Amino acid sequence: MTEKLKGKRITNLEVTQPRCLNVSVKKFQRIRAKTVGETKARGKWLFTNLDPDDNLLLNLGMGGDLLYHENTITLPKKYQFRLVFDDKTGLTVTFSWFGYIHLASKKDLPKHKMTNKLGISPLDREFTAEKLASLLSGRRGAIKSFLLNQKNVAGIGNVYVQDILFKAKLHPLRMIPTLTEPKIQALHQSMQEILNLSIRLGGLKYERDLYGRYGKYGPEYYLVAYKTGEPCPVCKTTIAKIRTGGTASYICPRCQKR
Ligand SMILES: [Zn+2]
Repeated sequence: MTEKLKGKRITNLEVTQPRCLNVSVKKFQRIRAKTVGETKARGKWLFTNLDPDDNLLLNLGMGGDLLYHENTITLPKKYQFRLVFDDKTGLTVTFSWFGYIHLASKKDLPKHKMTNKLGISPLDREFTAEKLASLLSGRRGAIKSFLLNQKNVAGIGNVYVQDILFKAKLHPLRMIPTLTEPKIQALHQSMQEILNLSIRLGGLKYERDLYGRYGKYGPEYYLVAYKTGEPCPVCKTTIAKIRTGGTASYICPRCQKR
């Protein structure tokens, strides 16, 4: 989005589902004539700076499309929100269920309740192994629930966490205080590898990028996730599905000892 949209000026907007907004449609008009800046991601939220001091906050909820259009010919039949830019290109937002289209000025952003408690993105330059170690320091509980809690680290969901733990040879119920420094480094490394693999492949198979192209990250790339009964890619032990707290986990019982 930064590559494609930065520098474009918003000339028009269309809202077909006002309840996705955090302000009235009338108040939303303030983004007209503003210039699009950089976009950053944290968890499910995208933050797009609108020059000079406004921010468009998008969250596709359970899924949806964020599509860039060179012209109006490729517009989808249904969309909840559309931006038109000064060069006649545009952006549409479509939710498969429900999502959020919010505005927050620079001053109000720290008060935006749905995002102000989000943790650091695991792909942020500042997210080093030392940073992860400091986040884990003094914490109790199991590692999997820590990783899924968006207040700790924002951006890991139930598909990715399975393979991240497997690659780091960690049982999902492994208690945080027992993690050694090399283990934390292995976990950090594994987070980068698994998430970047998916990004390189354009995301999950049912997800589309800005240009409408589907991702290629599917079960053939998963290591243990959703592979109950199949052999572990490292030691050939049968992959098991276990209950861990409120979620299901897929593990190799040999590589990921409790
Ligand atoms: Zn194994």
